[in-house]
Amino acid sequence: MKPELPELPYRFNELEPHISARTLQFHYDRHHRGYLEKLGGLIDGTPLENLELSDLVTSTRGEVYDNAAQVYNHTFYWNSMTPGGGREPRGRIGQAIVSSFGSWATFEKEFAERALGLFGSGYVWITFDPELQCVTIDAMKDAGCPLQVQRIPLLAMDVWEHAYYLDYQNERPRYVKAFLSSLANWEFAEANLPSHEE
Ligand code: MN
Repeated sequence: MKPELPELPYRFNELEPHISARTLQFHYDRHHRGYLEKLGGLIDGTPLENLELSDLVTSTRGEVYDNAAQVYNHTFYWNSMTPGGGREPRGRIGQAIVSSFGSWATFEKEFAERALGLFGSGYVWITFDPELQCVTIDAMKDAGCPLQVQRIPLLAMDVWEHAYYLDYQNERPRYVKAFLSSLANWEFAEANLPSHEE
């Protein structure tokens, strides 16, 4: 398949005041598009161009992996946020989080700790571990992606500085707080959560 830049699920200004239109425009138009173009240059005309994006993520290493994962991760991240999102989730995803972490407060605390403890660039993922059958948090460096470690991604938060620097400068804690309280798209997370029958 030929990887394409997906449409953003909202307009550039719709995540304001938590993420500015300027941040989103740079992040999507420059960073995401840049990884996509770089990936194209690396795989065009090679057997890799026939693979799905998720297969590129699980079966390659080095530069191809880095760019393929950045394309995958950014698409996932856009979908992980929604205008008017955040707060404690209800429904199946809310129950899964509480039964895995004991309480929403514990989850919130651990999510923030993992995000602040991740040195440098990366992503904090809310994932589902099919073996343990529970919700987990994976803080992964650089272009890390849960598909590498056989976990099912539910929600992604980009913690590269380009994701928040224009709006929060070096204050990652404020960005992390805004993500959970005002941006997280729990409907998307729930749609990614496997159902019990599986
Ligand atoms: Mn990014």
